[in-house]
Amino acid sequence: MSDDAERGPIKRVVIVGGGTAGWMTAAAMARLCAGGVAVTLIESDEIGTVGVGEATIPTLRTFNAMLGIDEDDFLRATQGTFKLGIEFVGWGEIGERYLHPFGTYGRESQAIRFHQFWLALRQDRRFAKEAGRLDDYNITASAAHLGRFARPAGDPTTVLSTLGYAFHLDAGLYARYLRRHAEDRGIRRVEGCIVDVQRGARADMIAAVTLKDGRVIDGDLFIDCSGFRGLLIEDCLKTGYEDWSRWLPCDRAVAVPCRSVEPPRPYTRATADAAGWRWRIPLQHRVGNGYVYASAHIDDAEAERTLIAGLDGEPLAAPRRLSFTAGRRRRAWVGNVVAIGLAGGFIEPLESTSIHLIQTGIARLLALFPDRDFAQPETDQYNRMTALEYEQVRDFIILHYKATARDDTPFWRRCRAMEIPDTLAAKIALFRSSGRVFRQDDDLFTLDSWVAVMLGQNIMPDGHDPLVDALPIEGTRRFLAHLRDIVGRTAAAMPRHADFIAHHCRSAWP
Ligand code: FAD
Repeated sequence: MSDDAERGPIKRVVIVGGGTAGWMTAAAMARLCAGGVAVTLIESDEIGTVGVGEATIPTLRTFNAMLGIDEDDFLRATQGTFKLGIEFVGWGEIGERYLHPFGTYGRESQAIRFHQFWLALRQDRRFAKEAGRLDDYNITASAAHLGRFARPAGDPTTVLSTLGYAFHLDAGLYARYLRRHAEDRGIRRVEGCIVDVQRGARADMIAAVTLKDGRVIDGDLFIDCSGFRGLLIEDCLKTGYEDWSRWLPCDRAVAVPCRSVEPPRPYTRATADAAGWRWRIPLQHRVGNGYVYASAHIDDAEAERTLIAGLDGEPLAAPRRLSFTAGRRRRAWVGNVVAIGLAGGFIEPLESTSIHLIQTGIARLLALFPDRDFAQPETDQYNRMTALEYEQVRDFIILHYKATARDDTPFWRRCRAMEIPDTLAAKIALFRSSGRVFRQDDDLFTLDSWVAVMLGQNIMPDGHDPLVDALPIEGTRRFLAHLRDIVGRTAAAMPRHADFIAHHCRSAWP
């Protein structure tokens, strides 16, 4: 039992770090200030931020809405563009490409998932051609292919209501935007480099941090947003790291922005390369590029040359190199320290999930917000949920590497041959059998996401849901033809992505 000094509500929250994680946390915690809680964010200009992280997934819209942020204002402030999904180039085989769109394929009918109707038609020799591409039934994918964008309609009976979207943004500008939001609402920002940490009464507690200039900042709750190093959670509390590099061997990245040579496309591109993959993220004022690679298979200089050679336009800055290990902190919450962002773990940005994991970390902390006694059941629940979420994301990313026919380099041969987690192996086996996939325990990725990537990586089901065969094939054909038609016409009528931006949210500068 804690003594009285350790009971009662939290009065001082200290956020260590002012990258995307720190400022998202600060913006979300700002509401505590109104209730008298002192929230301080410490960041160090000397250390800086990781400076990447520009592609997002649709859940960021919920975060921004929770903060009351106007979307057009946010896009103007961050040089943002709209993102309808990710185009994967050369993943299943060299020369192939597929889209993992947000939003849904067709619509469920008689409690049967839409893709099962499509599979049934495709697997019937007479109608295989007529079934077309699965993307033709997805308004988000169809708009992406045409370079078009419109916001989803509110009316749930229209096909436009099924459109899903996220953003590409300039990470530095987003942090600056959130900083203004947080400071306006009472968050105190302290600039300085932390050089020492004082332990609290309990071995797993921190009492205060000391800055280089001697200032001491004490708190009840510390949120470690200090980046890969994990200043509090690892350097001080020695939590330990679960290393997933046996499944995710990429451990380096080199990033460089370049000039745009065309209107921004409404999707991220991920192009598989000899020892990893390259991203291309179109913003309003430039394009973000990077090569994520395995250092065991390519050296840094060669990776940099490959990246530069593949740029669409002239580089706008010197390339920036980063190192990491895929995995997660064994416990994200220990005592009075909660790690959020890169301090808590990192899964490579292939599906743009890191900012989302920051967001869910914050939401979970708010849902389990502690008292000063930091009861163990709350901490355990946080850690269980965080571990499961990271593992689910991990499995989805591994799928992209494992399900490949590429054997052109040792890197891809290694990926093809690797053992995968049982959870993922079971999912692939079920899909291969009958195209079925189930969403378990609040998996971030929807059934349609799994379907998109499984099919995109050429995992073709041997069969389909037999319930479709219990329905007349003519009805299935009419159902699909109707959807194809309406999706195609709706997408073609949407504004061009660049025009939509010009009309609603063009940045005033440069
Ligand atoms: P950082 O940006 O590293 O911030 C750490 C902060 O802690 C800084 O302010 C620093 O000054 C401060 N700090 C550290 N030590 C001290 C100290 N001693 N004293 C005081 N302050 C200190 N995510 C996505 O969602 N989409 C993407 O497309 C994407 N792409 C990525 C590409 C790469 C190659 C990498 C590596 C990551 C990518 N991410 C992406 C992840 C994303 O960049 C991060 O999740 C996000 O930027 C959050 O970083 P952070 O705030 O945790 O850490």
